[in-house]
Amino acid sequence: MRKKLILGLLIFTGGFSQAQNQSKIDSILSLMTLEEKVGQMTQVTLDVIGEGDDRFSSFEPFNLDKKLLTKAVKEYHVGSFLNTANNRALTREKWYAIISEIQNTVKTETRLNIPVIYGVDEIHGATYTAGATMFPQQIGQAASRNPEMVKRGAAITAYETRASGISWNFSPVLDLGLDPRFSRMWESFGEDPYLASVLGVAMIDGYEGEDNYIGHPERVASTMKHFLGYHAVTSGKDRTPSFIPQDVLREYHLPPFKAAVEAGSHTIMVNSGIINGVPVHANYDLLTALLKEELGFEGLVVTDWADIENLHRRDRIAVSDKEAIKMAINAGVDMSMVPYEYERFFDNLVELVKEGEVKESRIDDAVRRILKVKLALNLFETPVTYYKDYPKFGSKEHEQAAYEMAAESITLLKNEKNILPLQKKVKVLVTGPNANSMRTLNGAWTYSWQGEKTPEFSEQYNTVLEAVQNKIGKENVKFVPGVKYIEEGKYYEEVKDKFDEAIAVASEIDFILLVLGENTYTEKPGDLNDLYLSDLQTELAQKLAATGKPVILVLNEGRPRIISKFEKDMVAVVQTYLPGNYGGDALTDVIFGDVNPSGKLPYNYPRFPNALIPYIHKHSEEQKKSEGVYNYEADYSPQYSFGDGLSYTTFEYSNLQLDKLTGKNGDKIKVKVNVTNTGKLTGKEVIELYTSDLYASEITPDVKRLRKFEKISLEPGEIYTVEFELNTNSFGYFSPRGEFKVEAGEFEIIIKDLKQTYVLTE
Ligand code: BGC
Repeated sequence: MRKKLILGLLIFTGGFSQAQNQSKIDSILSLMTLEEKVGQMTQVTLDVIGEGDDRFSSFEPFNLDKKLLTKAVKEYHVGSFLNTANNRALTREKWYAIISEIQNTVKTETRLNIPVIYGVDEIHGATYTAGATMFPQQIGQAASRNPEMVKRGAAITAYETRASGISWNFSPVLDLGLDPRFSRMWESFGEDPYLASVLGVAMIDGYEGEDNYIGHPERVASTMKHFLGYHAVTSGKDRTPSFIPQDVLREYHLPPFKAAVEAGSHTIMVNSGIINGVPVHANYDLLTALLKEELGFEGLVVTDWADIENLHRRDRIAVSDKEAIKMAINAGVDMSMVPYEYERFFDNLVELVKEGEVKESRIDDAVRRILKVKLALNLFETPVTYYKDYPKFGSKEHEQAAYEMAAESITLLKNEKNILPLQKKVKVLVTGPNANSMRTLNGAWTYSWQGEKTPEFSEQYNTVLEAVQNKIGKENVKFVPGVKYIEEGKYYEEVKDKFDEAIAVASEIDFILLVLGENTYTEKPGDLNDLYLSDLQTELAQKLAATGKPVILVLNEGRPRIISKFEKDMVAVVQTYLPGNYGGDALTDVIFGDVNPSGKLPYNYPRFPNALIPYIHKHSEEQKKSEGVYNYEADYSPQYSFGDGLSYTTFEYSNLQLDKLTGKNGDKIKVKVNVTNTGKLTGKEVIELYTSDLYASEITPDVKRLRKFEKISLEPGEIYTVEFELNTNSFGYFSPRGEFKVEAGEFEIIIKDLKQTYVLTE
């Protein structure tokens, strides 16, 4: 009783500095029993403390069970909760009621009053809150190449997440989107490690603030995920094994995580998969030696879904659930997300400590990390934030930011004879399965896990069809779907829907806006057996093109589905990715010239299913030139390349200059180039600097690597001189033994079609 009083005093004395937090962690820990510590390491879903209502349309689908809640927090000392009921969004009022009830139960029923931490996947806006502002998914944000915008979007997401009473966000994804077969490519910033590093840090800065002061009531704790190499699965299917050599891990997969750890992100989630035969959840070398020791990560390591027991039940590296727990905790896991049976996880871990199989010092380390995040979030003082304190939730200002990001992400990939932008006095056929769908504009993790449609959200925003009708008048727009998705779980099944009528109507209009792509998916339900866009959609495209009317192809997809069977017959191609609630409006503004497109592809768009190669690959320019030498380039020839994206104006690059043409390791190199807007319209341009190592002694060097980029806006005739500073680490590489090397030799610095050679001496 006395102990509790002292802690009570400590808890209610206001905001804490880091040093104060440290001593507070010590004093809390000194009061805790082993059981209370193990409880802190347990994270359970809402389903454990109540029941959801499975009605498809409801935003109020959850009834809390006081008995189950008391059991979880009082008997098992559960320290964390996540997600929502039946994967459906809740209203802010409901969120507030649920989280308040949990925190109040902690207060009344537990000895130490340690607040729970509530985590949710708010990956492109506050995804599980009705009425929240939805931004483009990460893959579209990557196309915007605009770190300031990414940061602002994350700050708004943090605000709206706190407006829902939630303080921990399982975002951003820092895995590389290297493989379009993978069902979660769209959750990434694309295939380039540097782009993912810059935008990952921008997102973390938005969630946590640049100073990482997450005690601020408008900020949340971010989660770097999924450490490490999750998207690089050999089969292309979710949660299947990967084989990734040390140098490849360090050269490509690690940099975004390293940058994010340096940016101060408070938490990290572990890769569900297996690398080189070892499940990552049991990998001491990755979780402790690399992450906690080498990178110096001091925050909290949470598992992915049920992944401790998966070491036994799926991966067969542990002979029992108990052994799996021992392996994972000893490898460096601090919190177990959704143990299959949380009571068993608790009992087993307590036993393991008593038996000496897991050291109490390891448990103390884990609990320290958890308490550190809870204290940093100010949860002891404000266990739940109150929705009425967040008047800007879903406001016009937030909508505008989401619209602007959608507008900057849309990528114009083809524009034959400058057919775009269209005049506003035209008659248009809008067709295709994605033409009238809010669900597909948003993708998964939108008011539900798989992005299933809910009536509440479809009515408030404009689909592509509605946006086009608003722009040029309903009387000038014909709509015939041609093909439609079967809703409810059958993510890829499609049927014809007035297919012949779509072809027939073509004779009555001037242009066809054909909106193709995918229905929503993530994780396992999104596994794919064929990367070609579906047969029905291909047939629709071919038959519409055969009418002779110009077809503008709009893609609304989470990964580049192959379109080479009909791409040549399309007069224009516009990639929207998964642009969010304002994607329909943004796309229409691009099509009709109210927005000049500026998005750039964040991946290579493949032409063939057997030619899936990222822009970062290994071959040399010489191989291309010399006859008889095997030429890899010819083998993959993408439909469009990383960095592609047209504008309605033109930009000319000139006068690429290096401040020195030769130097030593450790030197800095200043690079300048002039960019002129030579067209008639104001436009935004992304200037990308690549380097290329001509020879490397131990590995074949990459053909080129993105090292810097900057997005600018230029008026017609305006000239801008961009300046970049490189250091010689940009010329280095990891050897097959995982050692970083910078070697003397010749390197090219490439901006657009301009090149300069830099010579590094010993
Ligand atoms: C996903 C994670 C997500 C977690 C919690 C898992 O299935 O892999 O990305 O954060 O669920 O929803």
